Amino acid sequence: MQNDVQSFLELATPGVSKLHPYQAGKPIDELKREYGINDIIKLASNENPLGPSPKALDAVKREMSTLALYPDGNGFDLKQALAQKHGVNLKQITLGNGSSDALDFIIRAIVTPADEVVFSRHSFALYPILTQMAGAQAVVTPAKDWGHDLSLMLKAITAKTKIVFIANPNNPTGTWLTATELQSFLNEVPKHVVVVIDEAYHEYVEETAYQSAVEWLPRYPNLMVTRTFSKAYGLAGLRVGYALSNAAVADLMNRVRPPFNVNTLALKAAEVALRDEQHISKSIELNREGMKQICQAFDRQGIEYIPSVGNFLSFKVSLPEKDVYEGLLKAGVIIRPIGNYEMPGFLRVTIGSQQENARFLNSLNKLLGG
Ligand SMILES: *Cc1c(COP(=O)(O)O)cnc(C)c1O
Repeated sequence: MQNDVQSFLELATPGVSKLHPYQAGKPIDELKREYGINDIIKLASNENPLGPSPKALDAVKREMSTLALYPDGNGFDLKQALAQKHGVNLKQITLGNGSSDALDFIIRAIVTPADEVVFSRHSFALYPILTQMAGAQAVVTPAKDWGHDLSLMLKAITAKTKIVFIANPNNPTGTWLTATELQSFLNEVPKHVVVVIDEAYHEYVEETAYQSAVEWLPRYPNLMVTRTFSKAYGLAGLRVGYALSNAAVADLMNRVRPPFNVNTLALKAAEVALRDEQHISKSIELNREGMKQICQAFDRQGIEYIPSVGNFLSFKVSLPEKDVYEGLLKAGVIIRPIGNYEMPGFLRVTIGSQQENARFLNSLNKLLGG
């Protein structure tokens, strides 16, 4: 029996044999099963505490009547809405089952085991996983003040580099790059390298020196920008995101995209959510207040944190971070330990509703003996 199992494991491709799967935030139901508690809040995956636009939910209910049919495999209506919003051509849009799907497509379309992929230390966990899956070489550059060091990233590019991943803002650190910094970088990157700017938290950024890279698409044919409906749009459970790129790159991604990768309900919800700007404004306002609430409490308690422009905050504890994580779980509060991002002692909390934040702060305070 043991031998059989071993022989199956040996079937794995070189990339997959050393792969560690993505570790997601603990689901509420899992904590219920494991600890037998019912009153639980989850501040672990940067979801929107307000949920999705009520208009999107209504549209989902109406759309249920069509569930016997396959979705529109080309997602025409959603692409039309996105093209209008971003001023791009339909051919420049790739829809994904979450934006992670789009990140996977670009890897599968262009990266071979002979290639290199460049990204920063303390950046999104999916970049090393996808690179490893392709059997390619990950080139991880040291961080600067927890964020991307673009001059080191530029120096890391070689003739073998296929992709550079940049999360702006970055997760889990909440750091960000100015428009000027990013443009100078793009001006220097060789044209054979696809630069993916992952804007999963774009909606939350209010800094004036920040700018979305979407407007620069006409200037840089090797630029790709990804966005998601999982964060500010509150639709993480439906799985929908997208990439914007030049039409030729989108064509390559479309060749590896599984048919019907975005389901009917997700397509409709995203299309309607996109038009509900009021709900996004409300979500951003709640986040601004919640961020202030948590930062002020951390300041009072002398808890060190990395200033964040996203809807999450990474902070440092003097106890082992796993103990703090476990202690909070027992109190029904799920956050995320991020020691595995080469950030020992750090945890990340998602900004929740005012009550959720208060409950998290109160439980943390008890654990830390405040
Ligand atoms: C959450 C997140 C994503 C995407 O998630 P999807 O749900 O797959 O759209 C992408 N990049 C970063 C940096 C994220 O934090």
